[in-house]
Amino acid sequence: MQNNNIEKEVFLSDIKTGEEAIITKVIGHGAFRKRITEMGFVKGKKVKVIKNAPLQDPVEYEIMGYNVSLRKSEAKLIEVVSAEFADIAEVKFEGCIDEHTLKTYAGEKGRKINVVLVGNPNSGKTTLYNYASGSHERVGNYSGVTVDAREATFKKLNYTFKVIDLPGTYSITEYTPEELFVRTYIAEKHPDVVINVIDASNLERNLYLTTQLIDMNIKVVIALNMSDELEKRGDILDYKALGKMMGIPIIPTIASKGKGIDDLFAKIIDVYEDRDEIVRHIHINYGNIIESSISKIQALIKISRNITDKYSSRYIAIKLLESDKTTLNQIAECSNFEKIKSQTEIEIIRLEKEFEEKSSTIITDAKYGFIAGALKETFSQKPENKTVKKRNIDDILTNKYLGFPVFIFFMWLMFQTTFTVGSYPMVMIDSAVSWIGETIKNTMTDGPLRDLLVDGIIGGVGGVIVFLPNILILFFFISFMEDSGYMARASFIMDRLMHKIGLHGKSFIPILMGFGCNVPAIMSTRTLENKKDRILTMMIIPFMSCSARLPVYVLLISAFFPHNQGLVLVSIYIIGIIIAILVALAMKKLMFSKQDVPFVMELPPYRIPTIRNTSIHMWHKAVQYLQKMGSVILIASILIWSLGYFPKNIEYSTNYEQKIKEIGNDIHLTEKAKNTKIEELQLAKESEKQEKSYIGQIGHFIEPVIRPLGFDWKIGVSIVTGLAAKEIVVSTMGVLYQASSEENSGSLQNKLQEQIHQNGNLKGQKVFNPLVAYAFMLFVLIYFPCVAVIAAIKKESDIKWAVFTMFYTTLIAWIVAFCTFQIGSLL
Ligand code: GDP
Ligand code: MG
Repeated sequence: MQNNNIEKEVFLSDIKTGEEAIITKVIGHGAFRKRITEMGFVKGKKVKVIKNAPLQDPVEYEIMGYNVSLRKSEAKLIEVVSAEFADIAEVKFEGCIDEHTLKTYAGEKGRKINVVLVGNPNSGKTTLYNYASGSHERVGNYSGVTVDAREATFKKLNYTFKVIDLPGTYSITEYTPEELFVRTYIAEKHPDVVINVIDASNLERNLYLTTQLIDMNIKVVIALNMSDELEKRGDILDYKALGKMMGIPIIPTIASKGKGIDDLFAKIIDVYEDRDEIVRHIHINYGNIIESSISKIQALIKISRNITDKYSSRYIAIKLLESDKTTLNQIAECSNFEKIKSQTEIEIIRLEKEFEEKSSTIITDAKYGFIAGALKETFSQKPENKTVKKRNIDDILTNKYLGFPVFIFFMWLMFQTTFTVGSYPMVMIDSAVSWIGETIKNTMTDGPLRDLLVDGIIGGVGGVIVFLPNILILFFFISFMEDSGYMARASFIMDRLMHKIGLHGKSFIPILMGFGCNVPAIMSTRTLENKKDRILTMMIIPFMSCSARLPVYVLLISAFFPHNQGLVLVSIYIIGIIIAILVALAMKKLMFSKQDVPFVMELPPYRIPTIRNTSIHMWHKAVQYLQKMGSVILIASILIWSLGYFPKNIEYSTNYEQKIKEIGNDIHLTEKAKNTKIEELQLAKESEKQEKSYIGQIGHFIEPVIRPLGFDWKIGVSIVTGLAAKEIVVSTMGVLYQASSEENSGSLQNKLQEQIHQNGNLKGQKVFNPLVAYAFMLFVLIYFPCVAVIAAIKKESDIKWAVFTMFYTTLIAWIVAFCTFQIGSLL
């Protein structure tokens, strides 16, 4: 039976002081709904009006024993039933409707779902509408508007549906009355669920409208209509996967035969009752540049609640960036309207300058990028159906077979250029830094301040700046690949492989960058939207052997592995990768066990990036790098320098100065022999000073812990100084093992080979052998990355993960070195 009295809609704002009402529905936008629901305004709950005067705002209510106040505009979005307005046939006695009757009535009203059909012209909306409404159809013209919309109310599956067939549109811009009508209807009338009818035989164009509905953050169910056509053509669409990616349930239908209609309405009920698992609000990723504009405008919009109750602030921001006049008029009531308007203008100018295109075109392109990415993963066309496509360059770059070699070539080119081209300015910077150090050394008077400046600050920070050319070149390539659109394809190619270890295709580039330097690699994890992916990627980047670790390997391999040098070196890198994979698998199991939600990887259109833009992006990244490295390394260098420098007044075992003087006066020695002897004595003195300094004491202190790895206290000190930066490991060893690492590096190797344990159970034995050297290299590879990396992790996630990285990497390093040494000793 058709119940007509449930047609009339009553809102909480209509209820007078002292009256009670039962909530049937909360309409309005997502964020508003969430807040209101949290306050207790949910379907079936009783509300009492405490005070509601015509001019009073806010109004006071009592709900579940609490008094809350709502603004009138908010109360207008809560649909209710009350005794006064409920003309229930059987209960005509004034005011005598008992609560039970009212609740039943409210329940019935709560099962009334307002649905609208939107979709492209000829997608089958009217056919679907006619079939669903059947004989109950009630056709009516909407007066006052120039476009037609038909409306029908009918019962299905114990719910009442009011369905409106809106005019067909390709988009919801403001260019035609139809589009404007659809848009206004959705925004103003708050339908409970929008059915997006899609013509399955023309997915790309039909999904464009869907992307706009996604921006609006409303409840949508997709009717994948004409699915018979799709089948007939032999194309395959994994609509379930597509639905999961977009957070919208998709039901295949054949409206002309009435197939799938019942499923569609069953799904609408699920979505309406908030019990469908697929439904979630996703963000179409418009890319870093546009996203930063969106969030700036969004922040301003969020100040005005009048707007955010009705619309998604993100949607408004996107519309404003598209220079949408209608939206601009809509927000005119905002208190900070002028501010929003001027910010929008600034952002539009910025975007148009950056892309050299109209802002609305840029956003449209990004939407098509989203669609292309979604379909690439879920849709396969029968070869003969493929029409000549505009994106045919993708047929090579993301081709199953050709994609990989092309990708590997680009990666090779990137790293090759980074290190070969980068080495020239590197040498120049290096000599400039030492020149500055020398100059200061020669001009300043002897003293701690001079030592701090020369050895601590210039030595430490200089060591970082030396890498700047490499970093700049690397960033140039990365920016170029991002701006051109190739980065998205690279992620696409790597995605399947990365999924095997629980990561995402987009994680690949940061991980690869880790071989250059972990710091920019960590910074570049920002391109990953998902927090879980970001953290997991950050956690394994330190196992990628960065270029600063290379000098340590070179030293030890040349000293202890005269044969198979290359093989040993490669094995270190590979062990790093294996550990990264194992750690990723373990972490995914233990810490991020929650199931993945699939998401769309956008395939933005290719663009030819301008040198100007790419340089600007490169420079932004470089500045960030310098700021972080500068401050952290500065502090760490000063700290480590002072630990090695103090205490000053130590007692030497021999009087070195005296001995040096004696040699100087020795007439039996040649000038050359003299110099060698003096140098040796000076190093011996320096070494003893290091041993007795605080850092030497720390080295002795941790010796018991590293003994089982076969290490002595000198290795311990190197490990401690390596916390600041791994390059320092070699220079520390140079000092401690009494050889200058720069002038005659051959001799450092010899000294290492001759080192003997001074005490402990290994006393008298040689410290280094190939086994210890290998264990030490592995330790250097795995343990505590370096302070700059830790700082970068803290910046990109939080302190918790930074601290975690410090400890878990060191623990793994110890275990690996322990096993290597102990098992190796047995063999
Ligand atoms: P509207 O413009 O979205 O309202 O689309 P219509 O409902 O007017 O349908 C356009 C045409 O598509 C009509 O000729 C329908 O018979 C046909 N049509 C609708 N649904 C289907 C379907 O599922 N399969 C096939 N093959 N044709 C359909
Ligand atoms: Mg129609």
